[in-house]
Amino acid sequence: MKKHNFSAGPSILPQEVLLKASEAIVDYDNSGLSLIEISHRSKAFVDVMEKARALVLELLGLEGKGYKALFLQGGASSQFLMVAMNLLEKRAGYLNTGAWSQKAIKEAKLLDDIYEVASSGEANFNYIPKGYDIPSDYDYFHCTSNNTIFGTQMKAFPKCDIPMVCDMSSDIFSRQLDFSQFDIIYAGAQKNMGPAGTTLVVVKEDILGKVSRKIPSIMDYKIHIKQGSMFNTPPVFAVYTSMLTLEWLKGLGGIPGIEIENEKKARLMYSEIDLNPLFKGFAMKEDRSDMNATFNLVNDNLKDTFETMLKEAGISGVNGHRSVGGYRASMYNALPLDSVKALVEVMSELESKA
Ligand SMILES: *Cc1c(COP(=O)(O)O)cnc(C)c1O
Repeated sequence: MKKHNFSAGPSILPQEVLLKASEAIVDYDNSGLSLIEISHRSKAFVDVMEKARALVLELLGLEGKGYKALFLQGGASSQFLMVAMNLLEKRAGYLNTGAWSQKAIKEAKLLDDIYEVASSGEANFNYIPKGYDIPSDYDYFHCTSNNTIFGTQMKAFPKCDIPMVCDMSSDIFSRQLDFSQFDIIYAGAQKNMGPAGTTLVVVKEDILGKVSRKIPSIMDYKIHIKQGSMFNTPPVFAVYTSMLTLEWLKGLGGIPGIEIENEKKARLMYSEIDLNPLFKGFAMKEDRSDMNATFNLVNDNLKDTFETMLKEAGISGVNGHRSVGGYRASMYNALPLDSVKALVEVMSELESKA
């Protein structure tokens, strides 16, 4: 039986995408060949890559605005360094909202000076700092739109007259935003788009080519753009599966369509967390993530009972990250509302038992 999959990442994909992807592994489009045993330079795969890149820009509303979409490797983690390689000349500003921001800061610091414009570290990152200044003579500003581990999400982005770079690994394609306020958006595929193995980078071309350092080819956005995201052999299966997910999303009405579903799921989840006296939410209410809901049991004595009930209800992947503890329900695009209903039911059943 299919489980209710709340895994934080790699995470749930639409069932129809999994079926199509599995067919392509055996026989791609009735070609008598598997998708993963043909040349990435074949027309069949080049079409997949171009379609995936075009769908990204279409769904984000960035067509014809000077952006390019790339499917790279090395995870969002490699973007921590790559962003700095391509943009950092003297100094950049970073918003520190948790573990992933800190890792981005650490890598960029290898190259040059990084200034933390604000941090919520003193409160174990349970909120998003606001009201900070971003000096206009910095090379760029970097932020993390959704903090997967802590369950916080930026609901608004600062006005910024320098390039704005955003790690959207865990909430890309989940909500409507003016994506043109960003100059670089990056996201590991495995949270809201596809299998692990590819990283989406959306870059505004005119911000590139301004640093004096020599950039190794594999780290150079300009080279990846010039090569049509095929500088080296791309992760063909991850790109294909991501393309299928993007098509699925388009079929649901794109980001406006999925946003409605995501809001329903988050509302249901948080109303249970707030109304049920056995549970306590971790993140500050105004900064709560629609993707990752973090919460704790008020009384740890109920842990075993709760976890047995979760298991019996076929609920998987709700254990919290070790730095927060408790529970985390990740409600990515492909998670059905019914899965949230199942989780909420277990929580209220626990209340009636306790
Ligand atoms: C998961 C995650 C990452 C790391 O992604 P990798 O692809 O494993 O490198 C970075 N940032 C955020 C916000 C994430 O959720």
